[in-house]
Amino acid sequence: MQPFSFSQQPLEPERYRAALSDAAAGGYASFEGWVRDHSDGRRVQRLEYEAFESLAIKEGTRIVAQAIERFGIRRAACVHRVGDLAIGELAVWVGVSSAHRAEAFAACRYIIDEVKHRVPIWKKEHYVDGDSGWVNCERCAQPGHEHDAGAHADHRHDATPAFAHDYSRQMALPQVGSAGQARLRNASVLVIGAGGLGVPVLQYLAAAGLGRLGIVDGDRVEASNLHRQPLFGIEDVGQPKAVVAAARLARLNRDVRYDSLAERVSAGNVDALVADYDLVVECSDNFATKFLVNDAVVRARRPAIFASVYQYEGQLQVYRPREDWPCLRCLWPEAPQDGLVGNCAEAGVLGPVPAALGALQAMEALKLLLGMQLEALSSVHVFDLLNLQWRTLHARRNVSCNHDRVAAAQQPDLADLELAFADLDAARASGLTLVDIREPWERMTDAPDESIEMHVPLSSLLEGRSALPPGGRYLIICAHGVRSLALAERLRGIGYREVYSLRGGLAAVTA
Ligand SMILES: [Zn+2]
Repeated sequence: MQPFSFSQQPLEPERYRAALSDAAAGGYASFEGWVRDHSDGRRVQRLEYEAFESLAIKEGTRIVAQAIERFGIRRAACVHRVGDLAIGELAVWVGVSSAHRAEAFAACRYIIDEVKHRVPIWKKEHYVDGDSGWVNCERCAQPGHEHDAGAHADHRHDATPAFAHDYSRQMALPQVGSAGQARLRNASVLVIGAGGLGVPVLQYLAAAGLGRLGIVDGDRVEASNLHRQPLFGIEDVGQPKAVVAAARLARLNRDVRYDSLAERVSAGNVDALVADYDLVVECSDNFATKFLVNDAVVRARRPAIFASVYQYEGQLQVYRPREDWPCLRCLWPEAPQDGLVGNCAEAGVLGPVPAALGALQAMEALKLLLGMQLEALSSVHVFDLLNLQWRTLHARRNVSCNHDRVAAAQQPDLADLELAFADLDAARASGLTLVDIREPWERMTDAPDESIEMHVPLSSLLEGRSALPPGGRYLIICAHGVRSLALAERLRGIGYREVYSLRGGLAAVTA
């Protein structure tokens, strides 16, 4: 089956669907566009579709190929009807088969949206009152444009989008100009984490006209993300962030090539990821990932921009691969332990705080790519957004860091600290004593947990006001498995042998 084709005859979705069947595909999504009986408040009797076929097939074929590359789907096709169509007839069909449903939906949506915007197809509506008009053309749809066939005729064969990207407002800056714009077009940036920091970074870098943007995130969109990640919508909940982000950004700027990497950064993939880009923007929400990325950019000699947020405070640090420049480990030789200080899930955050820090990361990325080396000395910038104060701490290369000779990535082996269970009954059946370490206020507002035997708030354990009886076998449980993992690690360190953390916390077993 051709990736994109036209048909004078009624479309045959069953036949097309069979052509996309694939034993390796676990999901299939299809879109059908039908002729409806009204348009802009007018009653429609029938339609005519016309296309400038050679150009349209070329552009349509390109769209399908882009969808396959961008979303990693197995097969896709689009068939568009031309000629005279009656009410209720099928005007356009899109089908996608892929390993998983999320990419199938996303790619299907991408193809129909791009076909609507880019393929030179136009339609003539015949109204019940005997009148008729050309519609659905991008230029005709501009405000103030007369909907008549004559005005349409002079641009009907134009296949390009109505507007090209216009970078004139940034090119007007003497530090940018056309040379700077060309540097951006040739640049590639890896953004690690599409969360509160990553979303503004991705939006501004995509809008600025980079050549290639890598989006790494192994998570799916959650409803609780949206207040600080407004790139996503409520209908995206449950979908892979990297896939949704690439689709949304493609609508903002299709000049950019997006690498959608729906995976977690780990010791096993970080070097290959970092090596593939000119610059890394680190937007994860945990220290383990930040230090993993730090070591990888030091090894690969790539510049990187780090930021982190805690409640109303944010930190920003730029790493440049220079002899005299400090890395994260020069400042903090040991990675701070995740979980004992709250992350966004547990500590709370207002959306504009990571947004402000993410915008600063995007700014630093553009400065680096444009060669605007304004800052002679390295610093850590600390922003207090509650009191609107900003401190700059001078950061020095620590000669004992040896960071140019950082060994292969070393991550503590957390594998035997974490246990995953389908539900709490399964956890209990393993013979472990379940210990809920959430604070009392969390237990009042969150999921019911009456079945858990022990409640010992983390704060009282850390302050020494309570302790777990020694010799027991414990499964530590918190809301998302971050604090429980940190506590399990700490308890192992002080001699508890059989203490584990519930992977993903209560969120994972009540979902
Ligand atoms: Zn260092």
